[in-house]
Amino acid sequence: MRVAFLGLGIMGGSMAANLAKAGHEVTVWNRSAGKSVEGAKSAATPAEAAKGADVVWMCVSNTEAVEQVLFGENGVDSVLTSGMIIADSSTISPAATREFAKRVRAKGASYADAPVTGSKIGAAEGKLVFIVGADDETLTRLEPLLAIMGKAVVHMGETGMGQTAKIGMNLMIALMYEGFAEALVLTSKLGLKPELFLQLVEKSMVRSGVTDYKAPFVLKRDFTPNFPLRLMHKDIKLMLDAAQENRVKLPGLETVEEVYDIAEEEGMTDLDYAATLELLEKWAGVQVKGS
Ligand code: NAP
Repeated sequence: MRVAFLGLGIMGGSMAANLAKAGHEVTVWNRSAGKSVEGAKSAATPAEAAKGADVVWMCVSNTEAVEQVLFGENGVDSVLTSGMIIADSSTISPAATREFAKRVRAKGASYADAPVTGSKIGAAEGKLVFIVGADDETLTRLEPLLAIMGKAVVHMGETGMGQTAKIGMNLMIALMYEGFAEALVLTSKLGLKPELFLQLVEKSMVRSGVTDYKAPFVLKRDFTPNFPLRLMHKDIKLMLDAAQENRVKLPGLETVEEVYDIAEEEGMTDLDYAATLELLEKWAGVQVKGS
């Protein structure tokens, strides 16, 4: 298939590389110059990349970036044709997704929201889980590409439902990691070795994908970004906006957002969200250290 891939960040770079490696005709574009993908052509604008493509895949930071890439200057919109599919693996607003899909469909093209979970390692290994909002026909046409980039596809319903499920899932991740970090800080302050506490976590009902993925990084104190804190903070804002628009109260998340506000004020923006542990440590006067 002819695929335009727009956005070569932590996630998009690996996703595009896997498509090219599998033999698809890939053209990539990234906002800042200097990023390329082996086996793919590079384009100067989103429109140039998307011209004549069967599928345009996006993986950019946020709602504004998707709007810019689709409808801004030299955006995909200018070359949209009937039959083209726009697939979005960015995590963005469900309401804006429905709006973007409407504008794309007005030109006879199809839209799928396909946010992902699996982080940097899942993207690199082609083992992402895709959380899709699309009609059945569009999803069927995307399946060969989804199978290369991911290990599973969960169809959540119509356009917008992929993003809805994704922010629900990330709500759990933000709260679960906060619980994990708070438990590590409290037990360390009380004198328990983190390795021993982690042995208990692994054997008990609190074990999760979050603790499995993050524990080794925490023990090594490696906070280089797999999922940058600024992006989790962006997702928390998406959740709180959706909650406010729909009259839902999220007291736990409101409190956790304050931690992210302070973390950004303290310069942790580009670290992994796991670095929120360091704030708790500072407040408690203790460090969670692996031996
Ligand atoms: P990233 O490494 O920060 O990359 C962001 C990409 O978006 C870069 O290519 C960046 O271009 C581009 N971008 C930002 N603003 C733009 C704009 N206004 N117009 C055009 N392009 C713009 O982020 P990532 O980790 O790959 O994440 C991408 C998306 O996937 C986000 O929505 C994130 O929430 C979601 N996600 C991430 C993970 C994860 O673990 N990392 C997991 C699941 C979902 P430049 O190179 O020019 O900055």
